[in-house]
Amino acid sequence: MSTPLVAEVTEDAAGAPRPVRTVGVVGAGVMGIGVAQNLAQTGHRTVLLDLDEGILDRARREIERNVRFHGMMTRSKGGPALPEVMERITFTTDYAPFAECDFVVENATEKEAIKRGIYPVLDETCPPHAVFAANTSCISITRIGGWTGRPDRVLGMHFMNPVPLKPVVETIRGHFTSPQTIDIALGFLKQMGKEGIVVNDLPGFVSNRVLMLTINEAAWEVMDGVAPAEDIDRIFVTCFGHKMGPLATGDLIGLDTILYSLEVLYESYADPKFRPCPLLRKMVDAGLHGRKSGKGFFDYSA
Ligand code: NAD
Repeated sequence: MSTPLVAEVTEDAAGAPRPVRTVGVVGAGVMGIGVAQNLAQTGHRTVLLDLDEGILDRARREIERNVRFHGMMTRSKGGPALPEVMERITFTTDYAPFAECDFVVENATEKEAIKRGIYPVLDETCPPHAVFAANTSCISITRIGGWTGRPDRVLGMHFMNPVPLKPVVETIRGHFTSPQTIDIALGFLKQMGKEGIVVNDLPGFVSNRVLMLTINEAAWEVMDGVAPAEDIDRIFVTCFGHKMGPLATGDLIGLDTILYSLEVLYESYADPKFRPCPLLRKMVDAGLHGRKSGKGFFDYSA
């Protein structure tokens, strides 16, 4: 695409600025797929990594389908055609191509043990100038920065789902994130056609500290038999004018991600108000993960 590359990273204190051209994306699930698609559609060379070829094949098919689906819209605005988008994405299970990355967006499963294994590898493989953005729902950015030798170059980028259609990204400043890193990140988001709203770091940030409680409480209402899922959501949509009710929102995000996020919040604040609803845990155990599995509080199999 023709968007000019505006974000620049600096190699070191004395080094010349260089544009962010190649971006590593870790995790090819719901979010990683959307981030990679958005990056490729806005002219970035993109390296998309996940654990196995099966996951990457599914990601490739999904990106192709999404680009075709949104194709007419983006092409009418001068956006690139499908082959151009796909040519920009390298699908890999190997970190070696990350040696060329100026910026990384990490979208692995919302479990601290998993993310903790990834950052030291990124730190070792990526060039020293590379910036790492954690697309986490709730985990402290300060804590994530501490898993690297470059906490000043680590920040949070809480993208919204579906990524290519959401224009704003909650951008989180960790304790050690430098002002220069925030500037790079805001320029990078502009390159992606987005705006960042910068907030400070506490688990859950602004959005999910509130949203996870709401979805969890709506799950408690289902479990307590206050009303069926349809009526709970209908009240939010019709009475409050929300576009979606909390249970459909949970299904869209993924009920596994909701559960893991609540566990992070519960542990981080040591506050019982974040205690995950047992129904939510039971649904995740049963494989009812929402839209991505075909069924959650609502049925998407049709
Ligand atoms: P997902 O379960 O759809 O995808 C996670 C992916 O990470 C999977 O493909 C998995 O194979 C991969 N993965 C697991 N371990 C890995 C490893 N060691 N190395 C590389 N890849 C690994 O989850 P998601 O919804 O895409 O969420 C990803 C991240 O984005 C989470 O931190 C989540 O909290 C955050 N997030 C999610 C949403 C949402 O709406 N789903 C919104 C904003 C942020």
